[in-house]
Amino acid sequence: MLGIAQDAGFPSPGCQRECCRNAWLDGRPTHYPASLAIEDGAGMRWLIDCTPSFPQQLALLDKVLPRVAGQQALEGIFLSHAHIGHYTGLMYLGREAIGSRALPVHVMPRMAHFLRANGPWSQLVEIGNIELVEISAGSRIELADGLWIEPMPVLHRAEYSETVAYRVCTKQSSLLFLPDIDRWEGLEPSLEELVRQNDYLLLDATFYSDDELPGRDMAEIPHPTVLDSLERLSALPKKLRARVNFFHFNHTNPLLDPDSDPSRKVLGQGYGRVAEGSVFNLPA
Ligand SMILES: [Zn+2]
Ligand SMILES: [Zn+2]
Repeated sequence: MLGIAQDAGFPSPGCQRECCRNAWLDGRPTHYPASLAIEDGAGMRWLIDCTPSFPQQLALLDKVLPRVAGQQALEGIFLSHAHIGHYTGLMYLGREAIGSRALPVHVMPRMAHFLRANGPWSQLVEIGNIELVEISAGSRIELADGLWIEPMPVLHRAEYSETVAYRVCTKQSSLLFLPDIDRWEGLEPSLEELVRQNDYLLLDATFYSDDELPGRDMAEIPHPTVLDSLERLSALPKKLRARVNFFHFNHTNPLLDPDSDPSRKVLGQGYGRVAEGSVFNLPA
């Protein structure tokens, strides 16, 4: 796990409210935007989403799962959508920084068009820093023997691209990475079914409740609140609830603080909590 915050990270730019003020002043632990690394057990590594904190997250990955000698930093990247926290780290692959060569970047068709058609991303494609690999709903991309990934389209405000969640699978287990969705209604399979189908779930928890952003129109940035998700999952047995890990926290979300009352409530109901550096093991 390389990041549990919403796109802007924590603390949030310019925020002088209580949530962020002290964190800016005393440099307390920061949280990176949502991103996950996949490692095949033999040193090959992939990223899901490439955030503005990509440099720090790559260093964190090297610390948690040290790079195998002779192995490249990454075999490829999978992108969920074109909101700032999910793809702008690609800038570090260009000439000014890493200067990668033909690094496979797996994207849905609209996202591929967006990157090809707009600078500075188009330059990464033109000079061959990245190689776009188009994926489609229902496809299965083999990463290594017995390890694959599947994109799953979800409804999310789509100014520039479609949005997908990703399911990382082995023959025995799976993990669902779902950082952004407008609402659970209409999702196929349903949220409850997804919890039954996957061993680990990382779910959109941008906002804890819908009174978090006074002065902002929450309808412009729709997300299911954590309170809504808890309600929806309330009939699940506690054993299954442990599969669910909330993440993609906005800076205003009290779940960022593990000691807050809402955090105690969520953990008390049996849900999991992850942090940067957490590792999920998927038995082969
Ligand atoms: Zn996001
Ligand atoms: Zn804040």
